[in-house]
Order: sequence, then C-alpha cells, then structure tokens
Amino acid sequence: MTTNGIKHCTHWIGGKPWTGQAGVAGDIYNPATGQITGAVDFASAAEVDAAVQAGAAAFDQWRDTSLVKRASIMFAFRELVKEHTAELAQLISSEHGKVASDAAGEVARGLEVVEFACGIPHLLKGAFSENVSTGVDAYSIRQPLGVVAGITPFNFPAMVPMWMFPIAIAAGNTFVLKPSEKDPSASVRIAELLAEAGLPDGVFNVVHGGKEAVDALLAHPVVKAVSFVGSTPVARYIYETGTAAGKRVQALGGAKNHMVVLPDADLDLAADAAVSAGFGSAGERCMAISVLVAVDPVGDELVAKIGERVARLRVGPGDQSESEMGPLVTKAHRDKVASYLESGVADGATLAIDGRAHPTGGDPDGFWLGPSVLDHVRPGMSCYTDEIFGPVLSVVRAGSYEQAVGVVNANPYGNGTAIFTNDGGAARRFTHEIEVGMVGINVPIPVPMAFYSFGGWKSSLFGDTHVHGTEGVHFYTRGKAVTSRWLDPSHGGVSLGFPVNS
Ligand code: NAD
Repeated sequence: MTTNGIKHCTHWIGGKPWTGQAGVAGDIYNPATGQITGAVDFASAAEVDAAVQAGAAAFDQWRDTSLVKRASIMFAFRELVKEHTAELAQLISSEHGKVASDAAGEVARGLEVVEFACGIPHLLKGAFSENVSTGVDAYSIRQPLGVVAGITPFNFPAMVPMWMFPIAIAAGNTFVLKPSEKDPSASVRIAELLAEAGLPDGVFNVVHGGKEAVDALLAHPVVKAVSFVGSTPVARYIYETGTAAGKRVQALGGAKNHMVVLPDADLDLAADAAVSAGFGSAGERCMAISVLVAVDPVGDELVAKIGERVARLRVGPGDQSESEMGPLVTKAHRDKVASYLESGVADGATLAIDGRAHPTGGDPDGFWLGPSVLDHVRPGMSCYTDEIFGPVLSVVRAGSYEQAVGVVNANPYGNGTAIFTNDGGAARRFTHEIEVGMVGINVPIPVPMAFYSFGGWKSSLFGDTHVHGTEGVHFYTRGKAVTSRWLDPSHGGVSLGFPVNS
C-alpha cells in the first residue's frame, strides 16, 4: 500500500496482509537517492506467534495434500515468478540498490530452486526392502517437520528466501519467513504470487522486523527448524540459541572469498573475472571475490589490467540500463566500507584505485562508493581480516602456489574460492587441498546449481547441512524406518529376545 508516495510494508499472515497497528516500524530507503520511500512494520512476539499459529493451523491439511498437488502449485508459482521477474527486479533494485539486470539474475537463480522443488515427488521417494526377515518387509519414508522458519539477509531479498521455502513447502512443511528489514517488499510480493499459484492460506507467512522478531521465532516451541543466512556473529547466535531450544538449525554466515591467480593463467580472463566478481552488486554478495591472491610474478600486470577495466565501470542508479554497479545499501554501510580504504593505507597497504573518486551518475544523496583496489594487503590488516562486504578488492601477493593455499586455508571463513590457471594438475590439487565449501576453477563465483547444495565451511556455516539440493530436502524432512509384517498363520508366539533375522 502506498500513501503520499510512501509505501507501507506489513506482515503476511494466514494468506493476507496483517491489519493490526505495529508498535515499531522501520524506514525503507532508496539507496540511489538516499530518500525514505516507505515504512516497514516490525513484529513483536505477538505477531510472530500469530504467523506461527497460522502455519500450525495449515500444517495438517497441507502435509496430507498429495505430492502431485503440492508439486503442481510449485509449477504454477514458477510460471508466475517468471512472468513477474522484471517487476520483482525493479522492486529489489529500488530498496537494495543493485542494478535491475543483476536483480533479475537473482530471481532467475532462485527460480532454479523452485524448479528443483517441482521434482519433490521424486525427491521424497524412500527405499523398500522385501523379506528382511521371513515375511517381514522394511521401508523408509521422509516426513515434513511442521512449522519451519527462514531468516534472511538484505543482499538477496528474493534468491535467499527461495533457497529455502520452495523445498520446505513442497516437502509438506509450513513456513514463516523473516526477511531483512532493509528490503522487505519482495518477500510480500512473493507471498502474493504463492497465493495466486494456489497455495492454501497459512502455508507461507512473512513477518518483518529485527532482533525481537528473530528471538521470538527462536524461542517459539512450535517452530521445528530454522534456516538462517546472514553475517557470522548473528549466524553463530542463531545456531547456538536455536539448537539450545531443541530446533534443527542451518546457519550460513559471512565470507572472505579468495581468488588465486597462478602465473600460467590467462590474465585477461582473470582480470575480467576479478572485476566482475569483486564489484558486481557493489561487492555485497556472500560469494563476491574480496581477496585476489596473485602468485609471483603476475601481481603488477594483473593490478594494471584490473585498473583499466575498473576505470570503465559505470556506477549509477539501478533502474538505469547503462548502470553496471549501484549504490551500497545504507549510508552507514557505505561509510563503514569507505573507512577500510583509510585503515588499509594506515596499516601499510597501497590504495591502487580509490573508489571515492569514481564518477557516479546518480543523486548526490545516494549511498555511492565506486570500486576500489587495495594492493599489497597482508593477513592481519583489518581490511583483510574483516568482511568488508562492499566494492573493495584486496590484493595479496604470494611467492608460490603453496603460500597462496596457506593464506586461503588460514582464513577463518570458508565460503567460496576460485583458482585461475591453465594447469589442470594444479587445479585438481587446489580442489583437493583447499578448506572451502565451494570451489571455482576459472569460474569466479561458483554458486552451485539448485540440484547441488550451497554452503561454506568453517565460520561460514554453523550446522552440518547446506541449503537446497538433496541436503535441503534432508533438512526439511525427518526419516522414519518402518518394519512391517502382515499376519500369517506361521507366527512363532512370544519371544523376549531382541529381534534378529531368521
Ligand atoms: P545480518 O546478519 O545483519 O542480518 C541477517 C538477518 O538477521 C536479517 O534478517 C536481520 O534482521 C537479522 N538480524 C540482524 N542482527 C540480528 C541480531 N543481533 N539478532 C537476531 N537477528 C538479527 O546480515 P545482512 O547485513 O543482512 O547480510 C549480509 C551478511 O550476510 C554478510 O555477512 C554476508 O556474507 C552474509 N551472507 C551470507 C550468505 C551465505 O550463503 N553464506 C549469503 C548471503 C549473505
């Protein structure tokens, strides 16, 4: 709803917008203009409870809805999202700041998970063994958990929720989404499209807000599982709090993704990849390349090639088709990211490219920061140890392959990494030795397809289950093993011994 040009974003509970009065609300900004464009209601524990109860009320009927019917709703939803991709992309761009083509890309990657979830009848097939004992059969089934929750970050307001709810819902669960309060509108549009696709009321709910809403979900006894994607400190908190409350939790955290460039690599390809993966979406991607590890002697040439490309990047509002990179999400985040340019230099790095001087085609009040490169960065500097999450690429020089791998493996994060080389043996060795969950070989952003699972290692993931793919199906279901015998006249009477095969 929009009044006087200011939109109002509220919760989606039981198949419709919430009609209550929120005690607390947050501002929604357009990062390209710096202006407030809307308000979002923040849920208290009471609204969270209403959403969870709506999910609980819908669960029994939804889990008993046939697999084919559940899949058919996913097929219909897939068509609707495809049809509305441009509208969703525009909505995302207006609140997140990323350029519309990039926002359409995130919708497309989210749709791949919807398509995967359309195959739920196949994915939930169990096993059957006839005659495990004479006249006894055994089989396994996977059943939904109940009401499950997703808590998601600002940087992918459509894709990250779509990593979660399509599989959860298709598997027979009901879902409560708590999206980022910074760009909440896409989640409500998605709820409307799910309803249009035929999803029964209460199967998918959205509550907005911050810590209070999250804590209410974590404490709610009816919520059986929580999927979280966001920064590492919050991921650790969600994992510890949720599991202490007896819930199943997968909590994906932050990242510091290294791209290793070996001397034999195609340096033009590597420079293209470093610029695309470092500055796409203004570096606000968990799979962005934030550290380039240049193995001697390629460092100087690579930094020069990156400089040529960065100079040509067009920074501007996301709704202008010529823009390649948009603003950052908030003013506070822009200022924090920019502060690393100063601290990096103070710590001894060289500011090879200063993004503060990069021309921007936008409103001067927008949250702009052009692409920057800090060279001669060393582990230990705060620009290296911290997740900057902005358009700042740090270049670390390494004397050898072994030294480069040592740098990557010593980093506490382990989300994504890439190696650029023409040496298949080196790439194979890297894949084997590197302590990171997702690896690219001459591919800078190795985001797995929906039918594989997405997730990092070390401080990039708390819990042992990655999202989507078969691990996603596993996360949102629990197994049951059944042993069955249909009575026949040959049963042998009472036996107090442990059941053994005969
Ligand atoms: P964030 O951790 O600040 O917020 C994520 C979610 O948690 C939001 O819904 C937010 O409202 C909620 N939240 C924030 N503070 C909280 C608190 N103290 N207690 C309870 N809930 C809280 O993350 P963000 O800034 O929205 O997103 C950027 C971060 O997400 C980066 O660190 C990025 O690397 C990470 N990320 C990781 C992945 C991945 O797959 N590993 C993917 C996307 C983003």
